[in-house]
Parts: sequence; structure tokens; C-alpha cells
Amino acid sequence: MYILLMGPPGAGKGTQAERLIEKYGIPQISTGDMFRAAVKEQTPLGLEAKKYMDNGQLVPDAVTVGIVKERLAKDDCKKGFILDGFPRNTAQAVALDSELAAMGRDLDAALLVSVPDASVVERLSSRRTCKSCGYTAPAGTEVCPRCSGEMYQREDDKPETIQRRLDTYHTQTAPLIEYYRGHSILKEVDGDRPVDEVYADVKDLLSL
Ligand code: ADP
Ligand code: ZN
Repeated sequence: MYILLMGPPGAGKGTQAERLIEKYGIPQISTGDMFRAAVKEQTPLGLEAKKYMDNGQLVPDAVTVGIVKERLAKDDCKKGFILDGFPRNTAQAVALDSELAAMGRDLDAALLVSVPDASVVERLSSRRTCKSCGYTAPAGTEVCPRCSGEMYQREDDKPETIQRRLDTYHTQTAPLIEYYRGHSILKEVDGDRPVDEVYADVKDLLSL
């Protein structure tokens, strides 16, 4: 199963991806998580990525495509993968297509998790993230329910940055909806509902 998840920031892509990997045992490839891990370790990649992330902008394609290619070359991707947060613009989508062609693979689905802007703003501004494992929970949660790690507010979940991330999504990422519709692999789910309901639809849409 080779699928990718699209949708605005805070749509719940990561949550849906997590359920899918638990059940189907294929890796989730989240460029956002990869960048955050690099930021935490203060690697050169992390220091470069942080400048863009904190401003709600996309990390340059050369950097992003490079780390995805490296990741896709690993053995665990042979069974499939769930891409979460990549591609985020047309150049990245084209790069992904040529990489998959080189691997002799095809995308099975591009799953769009739709959530209106107002809900995105509400969700992101009230969300806290675990410093250790990345789990997200509503504000007020001080200890991670999954690993007991410390919860914090992501720099880019502050109000000034949320609007910029939404702008970036609408101008750069949303055009991919038509791109994948054109490739006849677009599936859409209403993400503005409880996680379980969304997941039930996701499984139906992916015929799982
Ligand atoms: P969200 O979906 O909640 O906005 P992510 O965790 O997917 O957040 O990404 C956080 C940030 O990491 C983005 O705002 C962007 O700066 C950077 N990033 C993640 N994926 C990509 C990508 N495919 N291309 C460029 N930048 C990316
Ligand atoms: Zn945790």
C-alpha cells in the first residue's frame, strides 16, 4: 500500500496515519516529524529547517526531497508507506513521481483530509505536543498520556504562525488536489469529525 495523506495543518493526518500503521505495519513518513527530530538534535539540517518552520514557510525543495529520497530507499518501505506532509507543492509531487517510477512503484491513493480553516485555527491554537514522542493533545494536558513526556506548544502552533501555515497550504499545497485528481487517485474524507468516524471512512475509501 503506497499512499499519501494531504490536508491543511492540523487536519489530523498524523493521527490517521498512526492508526493505519498500527493496523497494517507499514511505515509513516512524516517530513514534519523528521525535521522536528533534526531541530531537536541541532543537526545542520535541523538548523536550516527551523528558520522556515518557525515562520510557517516550506523548507526548500532540495532539502526536503533529499531527505524523502533517502528515507524511501530504506528496506522497510518495500512493503509500502504512508507519506504524511509530503509532497507539499507541485515540484515535490513531480519529484516523488519520478522517484516512485525509479522504484517501479505507483501511488495507490492520495487521501485528502478536509478541514475548514476556522477549525484548523481552533485545533492548532489549543494543541500541545509531546516533546519525546510527538503525541498531540488539547491544551491543559501537561504530561503525555502515551509516554509521560513533557507537553509543550510547538513554536509554529502560535497564532501568528498558524495563519501563515494556512496561507502556505492554500497557495502551494492545495493545487495538488487537482494534480492527484488528474491522476485519478484522489480520495477525500471530511476530517472535521471525531477521529473514529474519520478513520472508519478512511478504511472504506482505501478499501481496507
Ligand atoms: P503541519 O501539518 O501540522 O503544519 P508538519 O509537522 O507536517 O506540520 O510540518 C511542520 C513544518 O515542517 C512545515 O510548516 C514546514 O516548515 C516543514 N515541512 C514539513 N513537510 C514539508 C515539506 N514536504 N516541504 C517543505 N517543508 C515541510
Ligand atoms: Zn509522549
